[in-house]
Amino acid sequence: MTSQRTRDRLVMRLREGGIQNQDVLDMMRDTPRHLFVDEALASRAYEDTALPIGYNQTISQPYIVAAMTELVIVNRPRKVLEVGTGSGYQAAILSGLVDKIYTVERIEPLLTLARQRFRQLGLRNIRAAHNDGTVGWPDFSPYDAIIVTAASENIPDALLHQLAANGRLIIPVGLRDKQLLTVITRNGDVFEQEDLDPVTFVPLLKGEA
Ligand code: SAH
Repeated sequence: MTSQRTRDRLVMRLREGGIQNQDVLDMMRDTPRHLFVDEALASRAYEDTALPIGYNQTISQPYIVAAMTELVIVNRPRKVLEVGTGSGYQAAILSGLVDKIYTVERIEPLLTLARQRFRQLGLRNIRAAHNDGTVGWPDFSPYDAIIVTAASENIPDALLHQLAANGRLIIPVGLRDKQLLTVITRNGDVFEQEDLDPVTFVPLLKGEA
């Protein structure tokens, strides 16, 4: 149903858009995105667009997933925390590039579906939990990198605390149509902030659902 050609075309688009890391491009080509969306949308899975996954949430646009993945793997992280599992697609892409992924999702039915996909694809280095990710996942901290796939008005302190000494936090910061993809690099006790491109994410919400 999804031809190799459709996937190759997506990778070509990503490369033209500026994604350079070959490992990232390989993961984007080899990960079956159609398994992360509802069957009714499967035919659109290799378009470079965000798609609805229910509960008012979306699976991110492939270009954004690839760009954020490049930002995550800059310092060759081994242990990564993702806040906002959603469909599980971003975690699946990262699972081939780092040793261990921890991912948290506040909407339980989404997490259940994501877990099924990880099992189906044999992705055994992903550990997923139903939790409010604004408090991170202290049990397994520190993390070499933390990626937040929902937009936050401010940067949660707990996430900064759970970064390793040279860790990186990748997070969309801002409200609605005024979000900037932001990278915080920890250098011991010093946190350096770099604001990158405008992005559009669903909001990071407090509490579980
Ligand atoms: N990374 C996902 C994108 C999902 S959209 C993917 O690849 O499909 C963002 C997700 O963040 C939504 O599923 C939303 O429920 C979740 N989310 C929002 N606030 C959260 C919080 N405080 N803790 C955990 N997950 C949260």
